Amino acid sequence: MSKLKVTIVSLIILVFVVAGCSLKNHFSQNDEEKWNNQPTISANKSARKKKSVHPDDEALQVVSTPEAIPVLINKNHTLPDGYRPTDLVYPDIPFTFEKKTEKRKLREKAADAIENLFSGAKKDGVDLLGVSAYRSHEAQTVLFNYYVSLDGYEAARTYSAIPGTSEHETGLAIDVTGGDGKCAAEDCFAGTPEAEWLEKHSAEYGFIIRYPNGKDDVTGYKYEPWHLRYVGKSIAKQIMNSGITLEEYLKATPVNN
Ligand SMILES: [Zn+2]
Repeated sequence: MSKLKVTIVSLIILVFVVAGCSLKNHFSQNDEEKWNNQPTISANKSARKKKSVHPDDEALQVVSTPEAIPVLINKNHTLPDGYRPTDLVYPDIPFTFEKKTEKRKLREKAADAIENLFSGAKKDGVDLLGVSAYRSHEAQTVLFNYYVSLDGYEAARTYSAIPGTSEHETGLAIDVTGGDGKCAAEDCFAGTPEAEWLEKHSAEYGFIIRYPNGKDDVTGYKYEPWHLRYVGKSIAKQIMNSGITLEEYLKATPVNN
């Protein structure tokens, strides 16, 4: 490794040590959304080499069509190593931050749909902000390995997604919050007028509330009213109208977290 690479890796680790110390006290367990409050980092090829492999993960199935719009990614279904969508674009929506970074990006169809959703909400007097959308495999790997170094593999996987199993890596998921920017990816977003509007109208634009209330044993995640997943209008309406999850729609085995 060159001196420059060593320096970059050291800086990334330092950023996470500083950020992670304050975050660990703030968040509850099982919260992959910690990422939303992380500083932006640059992807580094050396990160992938450090990917943690663990015998318990043999049950993980690698999805064969990662680019499919209804692709199922969860704690049992992972993206192929290093998968990166080829049609990532910047949606024209406001975020909680100003910088034009990778975490604003979405795949083209999802980007068009979120622009329509935001303008539809605005017409109803509901202001929304993006919090975090695309996350690269490298970024998730750096984050996850940092938590492993702190707490060990088993503890880390209870609150951070194993690289490849975060829906944000598909470019089809986005966390949103209300126009005041408060409760960004936090439990207090539940029950707000914005959360209620999303519950009622997301499907009209092709999105689902991916981790509904009371479905932890199916999705593997607690209620996240802020995490929207693009699946297309037809599937979204079927899922949201019948109060089911993507797992149930695809007749996949529940995660049983
Ligand atoms: Zn999310």
